[in-house]
Amino acid sequence: MQWKIPLSDLDFGPEEQAAVNAVLQSKWLTMGGVTEQFEQAFAAYVGARHAIAVTNATAGLHLACVAAGLAPGDEAILPSLTFVATANAVRYMGATPVFADIHSADDLNVSVRAIEKLITPRTRAILVVHYGGYACDMPSIIDLARERGLKIIEDAAHAVGSDLGGVHLGTWGDIGVYSFFSNKNMTTGEGGMVVTNDEAYAQRLRLLRSHGMTSLTWDRHKGHAWSYDVVDLGYNYRIDEIRAALGKVQLEKLPANNERRRHLTQVYRDVLFELSPQVHLPFARHAGTSAAHLLPALLPSGTNRPAFMEAMKAQGIQTSIHYPPIHTFTAYSTGAKYSLPITEEVAAREVTLPLYPTMPDEDVWKVVEAVAQALISV
Ligand SMILES: *Cc1c(COP(=O)(O)O)cnc(C)c1O
Repeated sequence: MQWKIPLSDLDFGPEEQAAVNAVLQSKWLTMGGVTEQFEQAFAAYVGARHAIAVTNATAGLHLACVAAGLAPGDEAILPSLTFVATANAVRYMGATPVFADIHSADDLNVSVRAIEKLITPRTRAILVVHYGGYACDMPSIIDLARERGLKIIEDAAHAVGSDLGGVHLGTWGDIGVYSFFSNKNMTTGEGGMVVTNDEAYAQRLRLLRSHGMTSLTWDRHKGHAWSYDVVDLGYNYRIDEIRAALGKVQLEKLPANNERRRHLTQVYRDVLFELSPQVHLPFARHAGTSAAHLLPALLPSGTNRPAFMEAMKAQGIQTSIHYPPIHTFTAYSTGAKYSLPITEEVAAREVTLPLYPTMPDEDVWKVVEAVAQALISV
């Protein structure tokens, strides 16, 4: 399908090509010096003491759950309105995901009140997701977690460059995880980053990323080590130098690109208000500065969403849904009963509209005109 306006697009140029070529010419492809530079630059940018690059955010979430000590019989509370990887990471540990409802049609993030009601003696962790890059209520979540002795893992896959009160999302909780998948705000193709301010977590995460081994091939190459011990049950969740090189360049472009996303989001708000005020845009006047990863729109109740999306497609415009709630998936039909009325109501009306930094302002007008047209036709 050749879209006139795709859902998302990359901002890649000669800088990315040069960075990748330099790695290829160096003939050192597995995790080494470029990855260290990427980790340092990333840690400095988000203001975290430690940043550990990984092969993707799903692997990062898994490592975060290992470090947080999730075990069979434990429960972890998280939203159902997220990508399935957030819940899968909990299940990799043999632990049980418990789904909490979101706040409202204005705030699609998990509700602190809903989390509180679901805490049991088995609860060990809360996994928050900053939907679209918009901040969860971290001060309240941290108060609750402290009071009840729970760990906080932040799925910050949408939130690279978002902050709340000047503190980057992903650095509020115990461990934060970012994604560099192709449609995220910065990309390495596949890739992710785990951040923490805790020295002990950082050490363990580094070990777990590479088989639980006490030295890397890179250390041995540099002559810093000639053997190793295996001190933990680890994984191979390493990134590589090609992707780290892409990440360094993408990170440099991120602040300007996020600014552009915020600008386009405001244009959407203004134009939709003018042409299709019956379409609701969540997160108006939301606290913090968002990375504006997504442009979620809520169609009027009762709209035939598949027909709407078909009508958009017929006009060459790609749309998507964020998300089919996890508790509705076959692999999650465990018989557990969830009361998630707001998640279900909102998820049924949600359509994600195109948003990416290289999108011209006039394309927002085109999308919104197509929305108005599609709403008449369905
Ligand atoms: C993309 C995404 C992930 C998974 O990221 P990968 O890097 O593709 O593994 C996890 N959680 C959320 C909310 C995401 O959007």
